Parts: sequence; C-alpha cells; structure tokens
Amino acid sequence: MTPLIQTYPLLQMASGDALKVQMYRFQGTQPGPMVYIQANLHGAEVVGNAVIQQLMTYLQGCDPAVLWGEIRLVPVCNPLGLNLRSHHFASGRYNPYDGRDWNRIFWDFSHQGEDILAFALAHQHLAPEVIAQRYRQRLLTCFQRELDRLDRGAGAPVHERYRSRLQALALEANIVIDLHSSSDRGLVYAYYFRDREDWAATFGLDFALLSDREDGAAFDEAFIKPWLALESALIALGRPLRFDVAAWTLELGNAMDLQPAAVQRGLSGVLNYLRHRGILSDRPPVQTDSIRYTRTSCLTKYHAPTGGFVQGRVEPGTWVQTGEHLYDLLCFNKTGALPELRPVSAATAGLVYDVALNAAVNEGEYVLATLVPMDPPAPQYLQAPVV
Ligand SMILES: [Zn+2]
Repeated sequence: MTPLIQTYPLLQMASGDALKVQMYRFQGTQPGPMVYIQANLHGAEVVGNAVIQQLMTYLQGCDPAVLWGEIRLVPVCNPLGLNLRSHHFASGRYNPYDGRDWNRIFWDFSHQGEDILAFALAHQHLAPEVIAQRYRQRLLTCFQRELDRLDRGAGAPVHERYRSRLQALALEANIVIDLHSSSDRGLVYAYYFRDREDWAATFGLDFALLSDREDGAAFDEAFIKPWLALESALIALGRPLRFDVAAWTLELGNAMDLQPAAVQRGLSGVLNYLRHRGILSDRPPVQTDSIRYTRTSCLTKYHAPTGGFVQGRVEPGTWVQTGEHLYDLLCFNKTGALPELRPVSAATAGLVYDVALNAAVNEGEYVLATLVPMDPPAPQYLQAPVV
C-alpha cells in the first residue's frame, strides 16, 4: 500500500514560518471503519513517532485488499510542544502561552449545549446505522461552526486554533488511538472508556486504565464522550446500543526516549488490536493473556513531604504493601543540623507504575504513582449490537 500524504496548516509564526502537521492515509479496498492514530501531543512523549513510522513501513508492505477501511497516521502532532526546550530537556506538557495542558483543551460536542436526550428521543426508532450517521452529521455541523469562528470577529487564542485544526483530522474516525508515554518513567498501558473493555486486552499491555474523569477535555475523551452521551440517552429510553466508536490512549514507557521494547509493544499492540477488530486481515490475531484493569480514580500519586533528594526508590513494576518502603528522602537544612534521611512508605498497597525522573524534589513535588487493580465495570449497553 502507498499512503496518500496530506499536509495541514496549524499556526503561522511571527517569523513567517508555518507550523504544519502531515497525515499519511492508507486506504484499503475493503469497506470498513476509519482509524486515526496520532503521536507526540505532549512534547516530551516522543516514542509514538517511532511506532507510527514502523506501522507505516509495515502497511507499505501490505496489499490494500487486507485493509478493511482506512488508517490515518499523524506523527509529531504538536510542533510547538515538541520543539520546546529548557536546557536540552523537553517539557512540552503545558502550553507556554497560558499554562494549559496540551491534552486538556479539546472541543467536546457533548459540552456545546446540544440536547442529546432530545436527539435520542427523536431518533430512537430508526435503524442504528441511521442514528449514528445523523448524529455524526449533527456533530460535524456543530464543529464546522467552531472552525468558522477561528477566522471571524475577534479571533481565537492559540490553544483553540491548534485544537480545532488537529481535531478536524480525527472527528470522522470510528477509532482514535493517541500515542503518549510517561512524562517521566513508566510502564506500558492503555486508557480506555466505558463499555469498551472487551478490546483492551488485545493491545497486550501491562494493564488497562478506565478513564472515569468527568470533563478532562483530553483528545480521547473529547472524541468519544459525545458518543457515550448518546448511548446513555438511548439506554435511558430503553434502546441500548453500542456504536462502533472507540478511543484509546497508549502510554508507552519513558519520556524523551524511543525505547525499542516500548516501540515494539506499541507496534505489535496496535497491529493485534486492528486484526482483532477485523480491520487488518493480513494474518490471524494473537490471543492475548488476560489483562489487569483499573480506573483513574484508583490511582495514588505520592508527593514529597518536604524538599530533598529521592534515594533508594522502588522501580516501576514493583508491587508494594501498605507500610512498605517506597523511597528515602535526603533532607538538608539551614538550621545548623546534620542532613537526615527520611523514609517514606506506601500509604496503600499497589503497583508502582510511574516514577519521576528528577531525584531533586521541592516540597509537594511528584515522586511516584501506584495503582490498585479493579474489576472492570459491568457493561451498560447490555450486549446490544455494535453498529
Ligand atoms: Zn501524555
């Protein structure tokens, strides 16, 4: 397969340079869903670019007849965040203009004042495919007004211009996969959403994390929440349906690094997911072992009780029990006393899945995070057909 390559403007710089993103579109000869995969929304989280490049190489070796639908790939999707430096370290998590997290800014149709329950009421008796098609049309019409607003009247700030031009590439998709990593050092795992846990294990990652935040405005949330809102409205009306829409964020190891093992797990995970979903039929999918589940509300983040230097810290992947050692804090003072070593232990049992890169911490700074496995919630769609 040869991809269609399209370039889209993002922002025009004072210097006259233009920031752009480039999309690689692989189109199969078989009908099927549209999959959108992007990488590097947070500037320091570069690993997904290598996953996309390897995915591209793999698809180039495939016959178009084995692809059911279309795959759109967008590497280096946030040039402003990626190119930002402090010394030679990347930060790139926050927009320097206003301090916003680059992944908490996105436009969500379910927050635009549309009456989704009224839509469900008016359309509930139609065929599922027709409901999905009309809903998508309404969503895209609403989004077009948002796009038009950028160049009218008083204009719009940087984060709104950036988000809208990026989201325009993804809103017609059925499946969104956003490739991230830790901002520091972490395990390999996926965020998923309500009623989509049955596909999570196919990525073959360390665990799957149900995103149960309410209004994070992350890229994956902004994409799927309008559809979850419609499903909820239809459930309330006694018409349980699950639309063929899914959003995943894969967290692939460490920041500022293309670890070969993380790249390989990302690549094989995405390919296996696509095969399980029947989107890629070049070879049978691999059956994966059962996976651990948890949810964002079951994470514990540890912050330094005082300023100092982190020593003897547990590594990502370590299980700790309540009261067990997590790290020592080497604390200096300006009181005429000798330095002291202050032990910090686990407040609750859990798996250490992420640790800070910097051993020097001010009071209150992030040190590490643990999670507790949970059973996934019972599906709300009650075995309704996927449409
Ligand atoms: Zn990220």
